[in-house]
Amino acid sequence: MSDTLILGAGGLYPPLVEQLVDDGALTWPHGGADRRAMLDDHAADIRVVVSSAGVGADARLIDALPNLELIANFGVGYDATDVDAATARGIPVTNTPDVLDDCVADLAIGLTIDVMRAISASDRYARQGRWKSDGPYPLQRRVTGAKVGILGLGRIGQAIATRFEGFRCEIRYHNRSRKDVAYDYEESPAALAEWADVLVVATPGGAQTKALVDADVLAALGENGYLVNIARGSVVDQEALIEALQHDAIAGAALDVFTDEPGIPQELCDLDTVVITPHVASATHETRRAMADVVLANIDAHRAGQELPTRVN
Ligand code: NAP
Repeated sequence: MSDTLILGAGGLYPPLVEQLVDDGALTWPHGGADRRAMLDDHAADIRVVVSSAGVGADARLIDALPNLELIANFGVGYDATDVDAATARGIPVTNTPDVLDDCVADLAIGLTIDVMRAISASDRYARQGRWKSDGPYPLQRRVTGAKVGILGLGRIGQAIATRFEGFRCEIRYHNRSRKDVAYDYEESPAALAEWADVLVVATPGGAQTKALVDADVLAALGENGYLVNIARGSVVDQEALIEALQHDAIAGAALDVFTDEPGIPQELCDLDTVVITPHVASATHETRRAMADVVLANIDAHRAGQELPTRVN
C-alpha cells in the first residue's frame, strides 16, 4: 500500500491509520504545511487518498495527483471533497454509509434531552455549589411528546425519528423530495421550524444546503423552539444562530458541528442555553471500527478490480 496517501490522519481512527501505515502508506497528518513537500516527493506515486470530514481532497490536490485512482472518505459526509473534480477525472469517491447511523442518532437524542432538560447546564450549576446558594434549578421542558421536525430524513434522520417515536413524539420532516413514510411532510425548512418544538438538522453539508437554516428559519422556530445540529456547521447560518440565542429568539441549541471546526465561537461557549460537543457523533470504538472496515473494503475492492461497495459518484 505504499501508494496510499492518508489525509488529515488526526481526524481518522488511529487503528486504521496504523493499519495503512504498516502497509507502507504515506501520512499527511495535519493537512497543512507539509503538503507541498509531500506532493513534490510523491505526487506521481499516489493512487489512493483516504480523506475525512475535516480534511477532504479538494480540486487542487486532485489536480496535483496525476495517477490518483480512488478517494476513500472516512465518513458518510464527503462535502470536504470536490466530488465534481474527481468525477471529471473519472476518479471514484467512496464513503461509509449506514454503519454510523445508530451512533449519530444516539447522540442527537442525547443532545436533545440535554438542551431541553439542561443536563449540562444544571451539572455546572450543581458543581458550582449554586444548588446550595441559589436554590433549586429552574424548571425545563419535557422531551416526551415534543413535536420533532427532522430536516433531512435520510438514513440518519430516520434513525433519529425511530428513536423519538419511543418518546411518543410527533414527527414531521422536510427533504427536497417526499418519502414514503408515516410522518407528515412540511414544504420548507421554515414551515417545519414553525411547527416544531425541536428542529433536528440531518442533511448533508456542501453548497446545496449552505445556510439552509437561516435567520428566517430560526425566527420560525421561535422563542420556545430548540435547534439540534448533527449534520454540518455549514447548514446553519452560525452568525444568525448566535444572534437568535443571544436575544432568546430561540430557547436553545445543541451543536455537534460548527462552521469553522475546530473553532467554536466564544459567544456560543458563553451561553448556558447551548450544548456543545466537538463533532463526536460517530466517535465510538464500535462505529469507528466499522467505518474503517468500509474504507478498507473499498480500497481492497479497488485493488482487486471489483465493484466498489459504497461509491458515491
Ligand atoms: P442521507 O441518507 O443521504 O440523508 C440526507 C437527507 O437529506 C436525505 O433524505 C435528503 O433528501 C435530505 N436533503 C439533502 N439535501 C437537502 C436539501 N437541500 N434540503 C432538504 N433536505 C435535503 O445521508 P445520511 O447518511 O443520513 O447522512 C446525513 C449527513 O449527516 C451526512 O452527509 C453528514 O454531513 C452528517 N453526519 C454528521 C456526523 C457527525 O459526526 N456529526 C456523522 C455522520 C454524518 P432529498 O434528497 O430528498 O432532499
